[in-house]
Amino acid sequence: MNIGIVGLGLIGGSLGRDLVASGSWVWGVSRSPDTCRQAEAIASVNVASPELANLDQEMLSQTEMVVICTPIAAILPTIAMVAPLLPKGCIITDVGSVKEAIVAEAIALCAPLGLRFVGSHPMAGTAFQSIMAAEANLFRDRPCVVTPSLDREAVDMVRSLWQSVGMRVYECTPAEHDRAVALISHLPVMVSASLIKTCQTEAGDVLPLAQNLASSGFRDTSRVGGGNPELGRLMAEYNQTALLRSLQAYQQSLQQVIDLVADGQWDALEDLLTTTQRDRELYL
Ligand code: NAP
Repeated sequence: MNIGIVGLGLIGGSLGRDLVASGSWVWGVSRSPDTCRQAEAIASVNVASPELANLDQEMLSQTEMVVICTPIAAILPTIAMVAPLLPKGCIITDVGSVKEAIVAEAIALCAPLGLRFVGSHPMAGTAFQSIMAAEANLFRDRPCVVTPSLDREAVDMVRSLWQSVGMRVYECTPAEHDRAVALISHLPVMVSASLIKTCQTEAGDVLPLAQNLASSGFRDTSRVGGGNPELGRLMAEYNQTALLRSLQAYQQSLQQVIDLVADGQWDALEDLLTTTQRDRELYL
């Protein structure tokens, strides 16, 4: 397959590594010349350039699919920039962590040029960023969302792309995707960040002691709250409605726990924790 990747960071670079290793021809575009050189050096791409127009035009005319792997805010401007240089019939997909803010607008950009857009969200990642963080097999056994389209052939080709790197593919609408990830991805970031902030409000000698005593439990529960602030901001900014809904539901759950503790309802608290212990298995 002849595939293009635009934005050679953790996700784009990792995808390219798997595709090149399995025999696809992969061209890449990324803002920085150093990133392009590094992507070529680690075989994330066969060839890369900061400018799409500088790549071999004959090669570009053979492109079957382009995967946009830039940060969320740059996805639509990037599609608008590259689309006029791609051959008619080419499929474009993205990897953005939100879908409602992207999919309809991306289709509107692509359709008039004879290009086919299908949204994706490969749910794999690490705490690191940039091409230096790209790793082989990042996507293996992880879930991936693909958004529906009347163009079934395009959807099936995008499904096949992610399945070829080992992902379990689920199809759902952009709205369903955004509500689901608000619950299991964006809400945990805000809850975890609030946990860290709450600890830091403790005054006096107890704070340094707490910091010294923090062990594996705190490491687990604070991990996502200690992640990339820019990514957290983008999740909230581009998935505001669904995140707010999840935060408000969480506030109610927390209030329920506060009430049980305040009233000393220990049996009811244990019942609640028994339920959550059982239900956690549903997410693993
Ligand atoms: P990343 O490691 O920071 O890589 C982003 C790449 O995009 C960089 O190589 C950078 O290129 C390029 N870039 C940055 N700003 C740009 C701009 N304004 N215009 C054009 N290119 C730009 O980020 P990532 O973690 O791979 O995330 C990329 C996308 O994947 C995001 O849309 C995110 O929502 C999605 N995603 C992330 C994860 C995750 O856990 N990280 C998981 C699933 C999906 P240069 O180095 O050349 O400047």
